[in-house]
Amino acid sequence: MALVQANQATHVLIAGRGPAGLAAAIALAERGIEVLTLAPATPIPALSRAEMLPGAARAILQRLGVGDILTQSVTLQGLRQNWKGSHLELHEALPAAALPVGWSLDRRALHSALQDRAAALGVTSVQGRLRRISGAPGQWNVHLSDGSKLTARFLIDATGRAAALARRLGAKTQQGPPLLARVWTDPGAAPPFLEVEAQAAGWRYSLPHPAGGTSIGWLAQAETHQRQGAATAATAPLVDARNRRLSPLAGPGWLAVGDAAMAFDPIASQGCFNALSGGFLAGNAAADACQGSPDNIAIYCLLAERTGQHTHQRIPGQYASRQDPHPFWQDRSRQTFAAR
Ligand SMILES: Cc1cc2nc3c(=O)[nH]c(=O)nc-3n(C[C@H](O)[C@H](O)[C@H](O)COP(=O)(O)OP(=O)(O)OC[C@H]3O[C@@H](n4cnc5c(N)ncnc54)[C@H](O)[C@@H]3O)c2cc1C
Repeated sequence: MALVQANQATHVLIAGRGPAGLAAAIALAERGIEVLTLAPATPIPALSRAEMLPGAARAILQRLGVGDILTQSVTLQGLRQNWKGSHLELHEALPAAALPVGWSLDRRALHSALQDRAAALGVTSVQGRLRRISGAPGQWNVHLSDGSKLTARFLIDATGRAAALARRLGAKTQQGPPLLARVWTDPGAAPPFLEVEAQAAGWRYSLPHPAGGTSIGWLAQAETHQRQGAATAATAPLVDARNRRLSPLAGPGWLAVGDAAMAFDPIASQGCFNALSGGFLAGNAAADACQGSPDNIAIYCLLAERTGQHTHQRIPGQYASRQDPHPFWQDRSRQTFAAR
């Protein structure tokens, strides 16, 4: 049953059109809730890169109606890691089970597939950047940077690491030690593996890009990027890649999903899967709230917090296992969180 009649405020406004926002939009639209996504028109740097999704992601991609994307992806046969020594160690090879270790997905193709699916379900897309929020639960006013205003009864923050909506509603973010990524595509072909390699003050990864070539990421602190820029495609933009967490994840009339709720160091290879599955759960919890059952928002928050805690606790061990006294490795082995 659609709850919104003509001339009423949009029922749910989702700020952000990444995987989390679009997964939430699909879930809401499937439940008959009027939903609008808001995001700026500017191209997202992330769209040019390939990302690894674990084998388990197939179920959520299929449930979101975009399972065909896997036919355009590269099936990965494992993770090869050169973390401590001078040679590649094979950590996971293709198991005999039905699911592969993972896929290398073209983020641009994933974005198009999710957008098309959301549009087919009647989701409205608005171009603009959220600047300010006024009003109250049930009657929010979302003010955009061009001076226009949208109204909605329920808000979802899917603005990625910015957490632009939740922070304006009083939520606080904490962040781990600084980490910046530079990602570019090399024309040479790559083997069907995610390869991860430690360097003196940072690490790099590579995986085959489904559109051809190799997607390469180099992660380090700002000073290291400045020193080594020439050797690592210095024209590629630097993007924030540090661990981050938001508290609370929801409040009266709003909730946060994906990187806005919790962002992971890419060493976890988990952010996109978390955005898709968390977005789908959060969209359904928001739909329940719109239909008079708000309790499932608390369940979504508990699940999301557990996922965040588990992943954030696992990451320091990955850095510590290198046993390197360099401050880059020591700081990340501790992963102290501080207010943003
Ligand atoms: C270098 C790097 C490599 C990665 N590799 C992997 C990987 O291999 N596998 C994996 O699973 N994950 C990976 N990740 C993580 C993954 O990219 C993210 O977790 C995922 O993109 C999060 O999706 P999201 O929808 O929450 O946010 P995003 O994709 O960041 O989308 C945010 C959206 O919000 C919009 N927005 C921002 N501010 C505003 C505003 N004020 N108003 C309106 N809209 C706004 C943006 O335009 C965008 O549409 C990687 C991350 C990095 C940095």
